[in-house]
Amino acid sequence: MGSSAATERDVARARSVLSRLALDGRRAANITHVEHVPARGGRTAAWPDWADEVLVGRLRAAGIDQPWVHQAQTAQAAHEGRDVVLATGTASGKSVGYLLPVLSRLLGEPGARAVYLAPTKALAHDQLRAVRSLRLTGVRASTYDGDTPGPEREWVRAHATLVLTNPDMLHRGILPAHRRWSSFFRGLRYVVIDECHGYRGVFGAHVALVLRRLRRVCARYGARPVFILASATVADPGMSASRLTGVDVEVVDTDTSPRGPLDFALYEPPLLGARAGRREHPLAPPSLEVGDRAGVGEQTGVGERAGAVSTPRGENDAPVRRAATAESADLLADLVTEGVRTLVFVRSRRAAEIVAAAARRGLDEVAPELAARVAAYRAGYLAEERRDLESRLRTGELLGVAATSALELGVDISGLDATVIAGFPGTLASLWQQAGRAGRAGQGALAVLVARDDPLDTYLVHHPATVFGRPVEASVFDPDNPYVLMPHLECAASELPLTDEDLVLFGTGARAAVDDLVRRGRLRRRPTGWFWTQRQRPDVDIRGAGGSPVRIVEAGTGRLLGTVDAATSHSTVHQGAVYLHQGATFVVAELDLEDSVAFVEAASPDWTTVAREHTDISIVESTRSARFADVEIHLGTVEVTSQVVGFQRRRLATGEILGQEPLDLPPRQLRTRAVWYTVTAELLAAAGIEPADVPGAVHAAEHAAIGLLPLFATCDRWDIGGVSTALHPDTGRTSVFVYDGHAGGAGFAERGFLRVASWLRATRDAVAACECPAGCPSCVQSPKCGNGNEPLAKAAAVRLLDSVLTAVDPDPAKAPKPREE
Ligand SMILES: [Zn+2]
Ligand SMILES: [Zn+2]
Repeated sequence: MGSSAATERDVARARSVLSRLALDGRRAANITHVEHVPARGGRTAAWPDWADEVLVGRLRAAGIDQPWVHQAQTAQAAHEGRDVVLATGTASGKSVGYLLPVLSRLLGEPGARAVYLAPTKALAHDQLRAVRSLRLTGVRASTYDGDTPGPEREWVRAHATLVLTNPDMLHRGILPAHRRWSSFFRGLRYVVIDECHGYRGVFGAHVALVLRRLRRVCARYGARPVFILASATVADPGMSASRLTGVDVEVVDTDTSPRGPLDFALYEPPLLGARAGRREHPLAPPSLEVGDRAGVGEQTGVGERAGAVSTPRGENDAPVRRAATAESADLLADLVTEGVRTLVFVRSRRAAEIVAAAARRGLDEVAPELAARVAAYRAGYLAEERRDLESRLRTGELLGVAATSALELGVDISGLDATVIAGFPGTLASLWQQAGRAGRAGQGALAVLVARDDPLDTYLVHHPATVFGRPVEASVFDPDNPYVLMPHLECAASELPLTDEDLVLFGTGARAAVDDLVRRGRLRRRPTGWFWTQRQRPDVDIRGAGGSPVRIVEAGTGRLLGTVDAATSHSTVHQGAVYLHQGATFVVAELDLEDSVAFVEAASPDWTTVAREHTDISIVESTRSARFADVEIHLGTVEVTSQVVGFQRRRLATGEILGQEPLDLPPRQLRTRAVWYTVTAELLAAAGIEPADVPGAVHAAEHAAIGLLPLFATCDRWDIGGVSTALHPDTGRTSVFVYDGHAGGAGFAERGFLRVASWLRATRDAVAACECPAGCPSCVQSPKCGNGNEPLAKAAAVRLLDSVLTAVDPDPAKAPKPREE
């Protein structure tokens, strides 16, 4: 634990740097909020009397004199046989909470077994190292994953008492071979599910069903393991954990570990050219922000160059903000100049290089000796390079590093003075994970979140309570999705015939799904249950997005660059599309839909491409609804038909449209879940929205709603879509739809329905608070709009949302605010 002298000095230094940055005229207006997160003392508990003495001795030797209260509470619940989720902050020592009951049991009961599930192989290996470092000869721990050699697998099945694996291996390797694992299942006492907040969306639904299959197999061998889950701080961890496991889960979410003080600033880059006489900072790197999100090359981006003569404008001449990467590079250079050890987190590998290079250029002008002490750190570097960077950062030889993700950094990289987060990393859990990299235990630190030019980032920097209050984002997924449920019922039947009793385990839709599988000849009904009829096992990819992915192949060399989801391939890798891969630019020469392959050629055009898409939506059924005067809200099943009809080329530096080209691609159908609201003509008239403005008002309200939903459900704006129309044939009214972008639904629309008032209020506030005159990327423009962001009526959208909220949520003071879950 750190010394208090260092604490005060570090806090003082961080504070003074922060206040200097705030007082600096250029930045004062950009800091929207500074939160002083006070230090917190730890609260300890006694070691439980049932804990194994040797284990307690080893933990003590490792520096843990006594457990924190939350660790002891979790351990106690699990020891007493209650399923429990521990949802506390980064570095709060969650592992002690589950290792204490699990290892004590393994040491005390020779036949006892436990399984530890991590979302990645790397995390399971880390955990194995941690367990081995305790040198408990009575615990035989081993990983079991795709890298485990054949002969070792046999040893693990027969002898390991603690098996560290992942849901994929459980699904593909362990459950189908349960007969060979019979003694393991018979003795299974605990199932630990680490980082469980990561199981969300369609993947979350898959994992939930794998866990139901696990429970069924255990029951067949007479075991009923206790589930212990570890989660980041999220809204409603009990709901997510119970949905994931299918059992009622107790919640421990009061973090009792100590924490140093933290000054956390929220920062919004200025609109370019917004202030007269403001000179563009000389360090500004090109601001093309590149998303590394799997499957989607983010192909919009508005260029900004140092010394640009004219002010860059966005689509439809909208003002744009200075890029978060450019601001972050400046902050990095300034902090390094002050001797503050700083990590900048960016969203893409290319951005890591850009930020480090820009900061070095800036330092060259003011303190050239410091330029060499700034570096980029990202995935894709060789292991030696990364270790070298880590050790130079630890010793202080490096003062500034731009990195892609907190998880890629070595675990011992902490104790820095400051973090700068260039763009909201997608979830509050990852935001705190990144901010948590600054400040050793007990020491002060500085964090800055620099907003990107989009509605969610804008909302966050103007609504500090959302960041610093109780979390509002919940980890959501839908295990009832028939497209996910059916293949797992097949897997389950191929493991052991399904009985009526089993179907209860798989939810209300299971019976109908099984009947459907019987009709299609996949299962056969016999007196003893439903049997799998095929020779081969069912083939289910639990990480897949459905449909075979489209491979991206370099035409000249045949090199496979990556894949994109079938669903997004039409809009991202159509012929002529500019495709970005690890900072390199390619143009698609041909999209071969039959073979699911896109051939690309290296090129460096000075334009990007944006697909134009027509989308229609029809309502299959409304399953839940809420009706108010002039407003209805629905949750239900819809059929979305979309067709990419062409694309635009836009100049990188200015966003100027260079031309349009038609494309001949077939329409695609998606049956999924949607939340929608409808309003009457009377409401629109009373809100003063002219008929001509209605299409623009609903379109703008739809874009902003898509941008804000990730605040309530752990999804990405790319996981959801929307349709708005002045008159929808199925509702007979003006309607706004937001739908899950995955067949069968992923739970996002449902979450929107359940939190509709808070969600639409946040949407309204985000649009109303934006200082732009008529709509920009920070409020109502969307980078994924298939209609070129036209028409959009910003002011009318605010009036529409006000009227909807007046009907739905007449007394907002009493209704739950976003931060009050
Ligand atoms: Zn705006
Ligand atoms: Zn649109």
